[in-house]
Amino acid sequence: MNATYLGMPAFPRAAAVSTRDERLRGNLRHATHTIRAKRASAVAELADWPALRAAGAALKDRTLRHLDHYLEQLEAAVTAAGGRVHWAVDADDANRIVTELVRATGETEVVKVKSMATQEIGLNAALAEAGISAYETDLAELIVQLAEDLPSHLLVPAIHRNRGEIRDIFRREMSRWGRAAPEGLTDRPADLAEAARLHLREKFLRAKVGVSGANFMVAETGTLVVVESEGNGRMCLTLPETLISVVGIEKTVPTWQDLEVFLQLLPRSSTAERMNPYTSTWTGTTDEDGPRDFHLVLLDNGRTDTLADTVGRQALRCIRCSACLNVCPVYERAGGHAYGSAYPGPIGAILSPQLRSTASELDASLPFASSLCGACYEVCPVAIDIPEVLVHLRERVVEGGPATVRGEKVVLRPAKGHAAERAAMRAAGWAFQRPGLLRAGQRLAGRTRRLHPRRLPGPGRAWTDTRDLPAVPQESFRDWWQRTRGQGAAP
Ligand code: SF4
Repeated sequence: MNATYLGMPAFPRAAAVSTRDERLRGNLRHATHTIRAKRASAVAELADWPALRAAGAALKDRTLRHLDHYLEQLEAAVTAAGGRVHWAVDADDANRIVTELVRATGETEVVKVKSMATQEIGLNAALAEAGISAYETDLAELIVQLAEDLPSHLLVPAIHRNRGEIRDIFRREMSRWGRAAPEGLTDRPADLAEAARLHLREKFLRAKVGVSGANFMVAETGTLVVVESEGNGRMCLTLPETLISVVGIEKTVPTWQDLEVFLQLLPRSSTAERMNPYTSTWTGTTDEDGPRDFHLVLLDNGRTDTLADTVGRQALRCIRCSACLNVCPVYERAGGHAYGSAYPGPIGAILSPQLRSTASELDASLPFASSLCGACYEVCPVAIDIPEVLVHLRERVVEGGPATVRGEKVVLRPAKGHAAERAAMRAAGWAFQRPGLLRAGQRLAGRTRRLHPRRLPGPGRAWTDTRDLPAVPQESFRDWWQRTRGQGAAP
């Protein structure tokens, strides 16, 4: 019933399959191009966007530098407001805590607000093992859950599905989970939304336990913030008697005033809206209004390890807007499932190998799932230099070296299969330090160019399976420069 990302193949193998799926590529192309154009015009309306972006980055960096202080402040404020705080070191810990909290209510069903953190830890599958049904209430998450599929986008988890597919899923699957789809359901967006509304309404009215994540947590007041477009999240946050929120520790901001920056950056970057339709905030519990019990599960799951890396830690600034996915040429062609985690696209390529380490073949392959074009950095509202982190992680994969995994300092071994690349780079470094030899080699290569193979032999063959080997020019740049500018000129 609840699919997980466990056991997914490395990116190149997964992408080799997904890039052959023409319907998937068509769905993704249409959706990402539409969202990216809307985002560009929404951002262009604000003359101070660069200043807002710099402020967002600076706020996040400062908070991360003093995260221990702000987390303790947050815990004290949530507790004072009537909530309970639980600390989860990893996914298993978080799943155990949530399962025990739900069991303590005596309930066997929960309704869920769309949440990346609970996707990351595989909460639905863990609850299902304990006999607890978790119902997704975000429209796109509902589609994914009904189809026993996996999300493939941060903001639009069912982006890989078109309207006809969604209609078929609703007709086929809704009755297994509750209220069936209306007779003669069409693929008109309004009809699909109405079918989902009717299906979900009975779940909202019945549920005694809600599970959410949060976009932000305000340390000074202990307030949590959920930003959404449909209003389903607000139903989950207000109707149940018990609310359990699972939130990554990096979602902390010091003050309410800091929200002013992020509530401008996030909607324009994600849905291209000037202001998102529903912003729900809550602080502990309130007499005779909303849930009686509130539990906050603060999730580490590799975040403090990431914080220990001075280059990679900028990934923790991410506000999950998904702008980087929508501009990425690799994501557009390979789709989100190829990244093998809840975090697809450019942010997934730098976040998953840090949260989970680069020990597995899948995580070691992710930093290479990029052309390094830099479009992700250009659109990121908190200025995460994703290409810089990708290169940094590639170095870690190829060279091995020190890292922090589960709080322990470890030395990672170089990944297998990169020996040829390392040898080639060493040979290139040796040649570049000997200009005379390099020049002689270039001339020889130019004269023998007709004899060069079009594909590399041995371990290099995989590289030329998907690329043309560049043709060697008849004349090197250095010789051309000296021929056209004279002997004394230095290129
Ligand atoms: S890395 Fe930047 S652009 Fe990508 S999802 Fe995070 S905040 Fe948005």
